[in-house]
Order: sequence, then structure tokens, then C-alpha cells
Amino acid sequence: MEIRIERTATPKAKPADETKLGFGHIFTDHMFIMNYDTGLGWHDARIVPFGDITLSPAAMCLHYGQEIFEGLKAYRTADGSVQLFRPEENFKRMNVSCDRMVIPPINEADVLEALKTLVKLEEDWVPHTEGASLYIRPYIFATDPYVGVRPADHYMFVIILSPSGAYYSTGLNPVKIYVEKKYVRAVRGGTGFAKTAANYAISLKGQQEAHDQDYEQVLWLDGVEQKYVEEVGSMNIFFVIDGEVITPELTGSVLPGITRKSVLQLCESWGMKVSERRISIDEVAKAYDEGKLDEVFGTGTAAVISPVGHLKWGDKVMEIGGNKIGPISQRIYDTMTGIQWGTIEDPFGWIVKID
Ligand SMILES: *Cc1c(COP(=O)(O)O)cnc(C)c1O
Repeated sequence: MEIRIERTATPKAKPADETKLGFGHIFTDHMFIMNYDTGLGWHDARIVPFGDITLSPAAMCLHYGQEIFEGLKAYRTADGSVQLFRPEENFKRMNVSCDRMVIPPINEADVLEALKTLVKLEEDWVPHTEGASLYIRPYIFATDPYVGVRPADHYMFVIILSPSGAYYSTGLNPVKIYVEKKYVRAVRGGTGFAKTAANYAISLKGQQEAHDQDYEQVLWLDGVEQKYVEEVGSMNIFFVIDGEVITPELTGSVLPGITRKSVLQLCESWGMKVSERRISIDEVAKAYDEGKLDEVFGTGTAAVISPVGHLKWGDKVMEIGGNKIGPISQRIYDTMTGIQWGTIEDPFGWIVKID
């Protein structure tokens, strides 16, 4: 794939204080774009100055939500080089999301090449501060100016980059999680496994009500019986019960996280007892009552590992591990981040260097 490159004439100043980056506010100088038109396929791959996109007010994505996205990071290692963590997995998953949302597939090798070219061009934007990284957001949306319902004929694929601060500035603080009993996020046969905007729009109400009660995130139960644990807002969930590492199996309503998959591989390589299976919220509560709920943690690209300190299910509030990170969570966090930032050797072939 040929990529046309148009450099900005007015590069922005890089953030002076990398400890104040936050998440998702600052964008680099350039972005990657390509277009799809029925008959032509994906074409006109280009890296252009970061800037607003012009859309028809009738653009189909604005009306019926035909959109999918991905999220990954570029990390700066001690020797100054830049690397990605399992980016092929993101583009593979992107095509799974495309298929579900009737968006034409991308060529995974081509877009990985495009991403590497863009990150190389924006190399200086990859933060140098410990724990900070360059967040990468690839996404596709329908652009046809048409307010009828059907799959679109025209799409844009875009990659934008955002330097982001360390997720944990004051150590791994456990989060408070609210088990959602009223709303559901995904249903049988729905779009739970696809990374699509709709899944987030639908989750905001529950998230807001949890916030109002001083809880940071929602734990979603299955959309049929509201009995089995599925996942947290933008993280998969793990339980350590009596030494067994358990995460809900991928039934179609859970997003197949790349961090989830990596954590499973890691725990297996350490010889731990690992299970992907259905786990009910009753089982979690029972394990808690019996003193067997050793650790609970979320997994996702942003936080890597997010220890859960409180779990509220109806009137029952479970404080887990004395509201402190547990040894298994800590070991996984240290190993995963070590591999991502290149301080630990990668025995799995997960790292892709930018050179
Ligand atoms: C992206 C996402 C995750 C985490 O996936 P990773 O690949 O580990 O970042 C989990 N749940 C939902 C709903 C997500 O959108």
C-alpha cells in the first residue's frame, strides 16, 4: 500500500510536563486516513496534518452508529526506542468488529504498516516519563450522506495518536466497582464482542448512576438472567478464588480483550490454575463469605491491571484483600508492564519494534 505523506507546516509544541498529560486530550501533529468506496475498495492512504474532518450532516455514522474502533499504545524503552504491544491482535479484532457491523474488512498487514509509518513520523511525541505512553486510536465510520437504514457504501479509516500520562500516578490504587442490576450492556446475539461505539453509548447511564453512588466503574452481568459476570466498563474481569484464576468465557457478549488473552497466557506459563468459564455473581459472593475471594482485578490496555478493592452488589459490599493490590495482580502488572516498556525480556513474541 502506498502512503502519501503531507507534513504539517506548523508543528505543535510537545507537552512540557509529561506528568500532567492525562488521557485523551492532546493529539499529535499528524493522522492517518484512508477511504473506502464500494467498487474501489480501500484507497487514498495518506498521512496528513491532524485536523478537523468535514462530514455531511446526513453522514450515516451520525444517525445509525455504524462505527468501530481499536485502542493500543506505543511505549518508549530505556534505550529510547519505541515499541508496540501485539498490534496484529488489534487489527485482527478490528476485522471481527467490522464483520459484525457490516463494515468492509481492512487489510491487516497494510494498516499495521500504516500505523508503524505514522508512529515513526510522530516518534518524538512518545512520552519519555515512566508509565506515560502514546495512545493509538484506529477507527472506521460510515460517511454516506443518507438517512436511510442500510450498510453504507463509503467509509473512512482514521488513526489518531494521543500522548497519555501514567494511568497510576500514585501506585496501583484499587477501584470501587458497582455490580449493575438494572441495566445490561450486551445481549445474546448482540454486539458485545465487537469494539463499537454503541456498546459504550448504552453503558453510560449505568456508569452515571454508579458514579452518583461514589463507585468508579460498573460490573456488567449477562443480559439474559443478570446472573453471570461479564465485564467492567472497558475492562475484562478476573477473580482469584482459592488459588484459581478465573475469567468469564467469551460467550459473544464479552469483549475479547488482548490484555485478557495475555494475562491468561502469562498465568498459564507460570503454571497457575487458570479457567475461562461462566462465573455467577452468587459464586463470587459465596467465595467472599467463605474467605476464599483472594483477588479481583480488571484488565485492559489503559490500566493493564486494575485491582478491585470494593465490589457492591445490591446491599452487599465486599472489601477485597483489605482494599490493597494482591500478590498475583502485582506480579501480572509488573511482568506485563515490564514487557511493554522493555525492561523484561519478551518470551512470547508480543513486542513489535518501530524502526
Ligand atoms: C477494549 C475493551 C476491553 C479491553 O481490551 P484490551 O484489548 O485488553 O484493551 C474490555 N472491554 C471492553 C468493553 C472494551 O471495549
